[in-house]
Amino acid sequence: MDTAEEPRRLDKILMLEDHPGLLAPATTCISTNFPNAELVTAQNLDEYRSKIADGDFDIVILDCDLTAGDQARLVQELKIRDYEPAVLVVSDSVDPFLVAEISNSGSQRYLARNGDWIAHLAPAIRQLLRVRRLEQENQKLVARLTEAKMFLEEKNKRLDEFSATVAHDIRGPLGGISMKLEYMLDFCQDDLSPRMVELLKRSHDSIRRLIDIVQAMYNYAKLGAKAARMNEIKLVTLIEEVASDMNFDQRLDIRIGIDDLPTVWGNADLLRRVFINLITNAVKYNDKSDVIVNIGLEGYEQKTLARFCKIFVEDNGPGIPESDLKHIFSVFGRGQGVDESTDGLGVGLSVVQRIVELHYGRIAVESTVGHGTRFLITLPVERIDFL
Ligand code: ADP
Repeated sequence: MDTAEEPRRLDKILMLEDHPGLLAPATTCISTNFPNAELVTAQNLDEYRSKIADGDFDIVILDCDLTAGDQARLVQELKIRDYEPAVLVVSDSVDPFLVAEISNSGSQRYLARNGDWIAHLAPAIRQLLRVRRLEQENQKLVARLTEAKMFLEEKNKRLDEFSATVAHDIRGPLGGISMKLEYMLDFCQDDLSPRMVELLKRSHDSIRRLIDIVQAMYNYAKLGAKAARMNEIKLVTLIEEVASDMNFDQRLDIRIGIDDLPTVWGNADLLRRVFINLITNAVKYNDKSDVIVNIGLEGYEQKTLARFCKIFVEDNGPGIPESDLKHIFSVFGRGQGVDESTDGLGVGLSVVQRIVELHYGRIAVESTVGHGTRFLITLPVERIDFL
């Protein structure tokens, strides 16, 4: 691997100044303090514009008194350049309105040209060069992170495609075997001994279960592609729809409380699946005749990527033993005490976790046996953009 650092190029400074009496001491100051910098000067706006066009400057020093009152536009013109130089504005005026206007225009430093301004010039340039270097380092880091993110996404996509293809290709023959077993059970029972019928039934059940597992694998692998389409989602509306579409055992008294919840940034299909799975579990594993499920907002947290809300889904069920908590989010991980006959494959929570992570969020669980379970998920409340 080539680890050699690119040689650092010279710092390039452009100075717009028409007055020879000001240009001379400034030039001397810059060449003395920054012997490795290349200084280019322009003495009027036309010359200045042609130089910034083929520039690539680190710092542009603008004599504000030469900008014909249009310094803000001049600074903005610089900001749209690819190389985005740091801007130092120098002026005879100390008018606070002008100073405010200059700093609002996007320039990094203002220097009043009073008696000893030359003494302040070198420290101001040094500070700007330092900031610029940090910005360049930062840009390199962002570029590397973006590259790593794209690489990981590509890798995940390929893994997903592989899993989906394998699951799809296995599903076909398994379906064929299942149909043949069904045929034998339906039409050949008279020719078979009770022991053979029993074995066929067990084989058929195992194949059906395998088909469910393969289908779950396929669905899991397809989640990533959906996450590419995200928009604003009113969480209350989405969860209310989910809750009213669910079919529960009529004998149970189920109360689902939904507090006021924020609008989040996400994929509606995926988020629907999150709440279907969490509410289904809250009801399925509940040992009370009056089932209570509450969904609410725990708070907000500011992360580097975006602002996130923390949503809780809590129930009054039996809770999850500490020893199970470690693997309930693993694919096919089920609670040790869960009755075999309880419907499920152990993929619900791993799907929830994957969906939350596709939204750059996190999932956590708090549970005490005998006191119910509380799932906490974080979801972005604003769009997340990458470079
Ligand atoms: P499944 O429900 O198919 O087993 P999940 O991934 O949805 O798969 O859940 C994994 C395990 O987590 C379950 O087997 C159960 O032990 C436990 N679990 C999940 N939600 C709850 C809940 N609300 N209350 C108690 N246990 C739960």
